[in-house]
Amino acid sequence: MSKVLILSGAGISAESGISTFRDSDGLWENHAIEDVCMAGCLDTNEEATKKFYDARRVDIKAKTPNYAHKLIVELKQKYPNDISVLTQNVDDLFEKAGIADNEIVHLHGFLRELRCRGCNKIFEIGYVNQDNYAKECPSCKSKLRPNIVFFGEPAPKYEILTQELNKCELIVIIGTSGNVLDVTYFAQLTGKSILNNLEPSEAIDDSYFTKVYYAKATEAIGEIVEYVEEFLENTL
Ligand code: NAD
Repeated sequence: MSKVLILSGAGISAESGISTFRDSDGLWENHAIEDVCMAGCLDTNEEATKKFYDARRVDIKAKTPNYAHKLIVELKQKYPNDISVLTQNVDDLFEKAGIADNEIVHLHGFLRELRCRGCNKIFEIGYVNQDNYAKECPSCKSKLRPNIVFFGEPAPKYEILTQELNKCELIVIIGTSGNVLDVTYFAQLTGKSILNNLEPSEAIDDSYFTKVYYAKATEAIGEIVEYVEEFLENTL
């Protein structure tokens, strides 16, 4: 648990060429969310859902982290015990920027992983297609699925989010529309708060935030990091 919680969403990876979905009318890479990101998709639309995540996995292989990912990783490594990094993103750009597995929490899953639908075991598969990795769980023989939290499914890592929210004194929100996580409420809970998005969102009341940046993450991140460092230096 840390004094500073950095919580990111799809917007932080937009400048690295990975599409967000709220910015394109509820579509993600031209797919309707309800077709490939909803609880039950794997029962009603299994092949298309698998294919969609196979394509997302291949897509991120060549993508590289941007300045915002890199500065956040540097900050985390400078203040390892005082900063927690949680992301809604399923891409691996923080990892490519050098963050270690135990320094980040992917609240909504991770594209490079599959999960067994029977025993819940997790398999790191890199960037390959699901069926090229395995047709079934090597341990229990159940079907495998992308390790992604679909809408309407439980998100076990929210327990960590709750613990962090109870402890943090400054929350930094970057690149999320607030449609999935109620970031206004998080700002209400926390002493100080920073919001960075491209533009206002109808799901966020920015009047609750101490500082608001409507700008590209790569442009806002320098000032955000300065604010966090000053906050930590004054409270340590
Ligand atoms: P979202 O698509 O709903 O909203 C994107 C937000 O980012 C918007 O508020 C927009 O103003 C902001 N934004 C866009 N470009 C930006 C930039 N350059 N700098 C700063 N902000 C920018 O994203 P969300 O709230 O994270 O959506 C939730 C779900 O979307 C997550 O569960 C996530 O798993 C999924 N998702 C993830 C990825 C990814 O991993 N890269 C991509 C698409 C969707």
